[in-house]
Amino acid sequence: MSHCRRCPRLVAWREEVARTKRAAFADETYWGRPVPGFGPADAALLIVGLAPAAHGANRTGRMFTGDRSGDVLYQALYDIGLASRPTATAADDGLTLYGVRITAPVHCAPPANKPTPQERDNCRPWLVDELRLLAPTLRGAVVLGTFGWQAVLPAFAAAGWHVPRPRPAFGHGARTTLRGEPGALDLFGCFHVSQRNTFTGRLTPAMLREVLSDAATAAGLPVRPKRPR
Ligand code: SF4
Repeated sequence: MSHCRRCPRLVAWREEVARTKRAAFADETYWGRPVPGFGPADAALLIVGLAPAAHGANRTGRMFTGDRSGDVLYQALYDIGLASRPTATAADDGLTLYGVRITAPVHCAPPANKPTPQERDNCRPWLVDELRLLAPTLRGAVVLGTFGWQAVLPAFAAAGWHVPRPRPAFGHGARTTLRGEPGALDLFGCFHVSQRNTFTGRLTPAMLREVLSDAATAAGLPVRPKRPR
């Protein structure tokens, strides 16, 4: 996957950003390629975002690593005992996830964080492959935002789960159970950890911890008692 060039617009953008860089990272070598899922291949819980950020994952080569969205997500995972550290700064920073994997339905950074429906569909086979890899152990998923929700349902269907019709609607706190050949899986909706949501308080750390805790518990992972912050 790291050599995929199926989306010409995204290939051009990820490489242009890697060439021109942001001034603060001028002396770094950007990843500038598709960003793979991060976390163990036998995870019980999957977190699904949107796409790599231009100067975050597209720079560091690891999902949600090196930007403000990732700061919020990894702090929450650390708070409930599912990550070894509260920060994610570089692919070699030693961060380990416990029973959790993080991925996105689009693996290359899109301009303005907005992939097209065609680009989402182009990238679906990679997500389906990842779901098939995880299927023997996967029991829960948290989807961050509407785009991810709409992208992931057909991928779950292609990987062997039964997705009800009409499709379950996205919402913060939405919860539905998918059944099928790989076993039952609880799917949770959560507002995206974007700066727009976290800066405005639409998504607070407590709200994020609550959804992640509920999903981890449903997936059979041990969760540390929530710490008020
Ligand atoms: S977004 Fe997905 S399908 Fe498109 S070029 Fe990147 S890895 Fe390939």
